[in-house]
Amino acid sequence: MTMDVSLERYSRQMRFPGVGEEGQRRLLASHVTLCGCGALGTVLANALVRAGVGHLRLVDRDFIETHNLQRQVLFDEHDVAENLPKAEAAARKLGAINSSVHVEPVVTDIDRTNILELVEDADLILDGTDNFEIRYLINDAAVKLGKPWVYGGSIGSHGQTMTILPGETPCLRCVFEAAPGPGEAATCETAGVLSPIVNIIASYQVTEGMKILTGHRDKVNRDLIFVDVWDNVFRRIKIAPLLGKVDCPCCQRRRFAWLDGDLGSHTTSLCGRNAVQVAHRTPSRLDFEELAKHLEALGEVSYNRFLLKFGADGCEFTVFPDGRAIIKGTSDVDRARTLYAKYIGH
Ligand SMILES: [Zn+2]
Repeated sequence: MTMDVSLERYSRQMRFPGVGEEGQRRLLASHVTLCGCGALGTVLANALVRAGVGHLRLVDRDFIETHNLQRQVLFDEHDVAENLPKAEAAARKLGAINSSVHVEPVVTDIDRTNILELVEDADLILDGTDNFEIRYLINDAAVKLGKPWVYGGSIGSHGQTMTILPGETPCLRCVFEAAPGPGEAATCETAGVLSPIVNIIASYQVTEGMKILTGHRDKVNRDLIFVDVWDNVFRRIKIAPLLGKVDCPCCQRRRFAWLDGDLGSHTTSLCGRNAVQVAHRTPSRLDFEELAKHLEALGEVSYNRFLLKFGADGCEFTVFPDGRAIIKGTSDVDRARTLYAKYIGH
């Protein structure tokens, strides 16, 4: 039997009966949207691109910092020095790993105005975020459009994951009714995070994705899986009976509160990082050259095609071409808005 040369690189994966040539062809024809390209996201993207998905849309709002390198496997010191957004740096690395995969980096904040567009052509949505607000938004969009998605989260030495097949399994809101309030949940900044748990949770997520994309929904995990690698805990929590038993506003009553904007905010304090994101969309792209001229008096301003950085009032500002900014050095949303108005304007 001769094998198509383009399939040769996947031969070990195809030899696994669950995938086979048919499964591989399905993978190659599939579209995936990955929300978030940090710890979980880089592991997910790496595995998906090596496995040979057809099209991977990578969506991330952030840029790379040195303290990301401990666990965000696609980045290195050069990316930090180059001030690259995560989605761009990841796309470059992934292109070198498997040039036959169409990787589409999107540097933006996922919100209710763009989520449907980002996922509408996807066969699968993967959660690589660190943020419950975005997860509920993904859940709303996925349930509304009937698309499968895989939730994952990790912190400290533990993590959890569940797979959502709309109409077939409980959705995120069936299981977690509401997001933890600000300050209620531990963050990577307060609790830290070990890279092995990130890899484990992301590996479960990718495998779930591969089952779905190769047409093996019968193999999909129907439980909430919880793992703690430090305390040696592995738990499977039965959630399947929740489907239709709880009066879920999302998948039962089909009220999409996050998508409709009844819940959630736009300007947010970032995952305990002493930073605030001010999401301010401008109709046209910011002119960095012009902005840099205005800011010169403050001291050093640096910019490239993707972002502009400067320091003022004891804070570090990173501004994106769409007008969005991440202001580091404060967790006070009102102060961040004031600083934004003072230096970036509009
Ligand atoms: Zn539900």
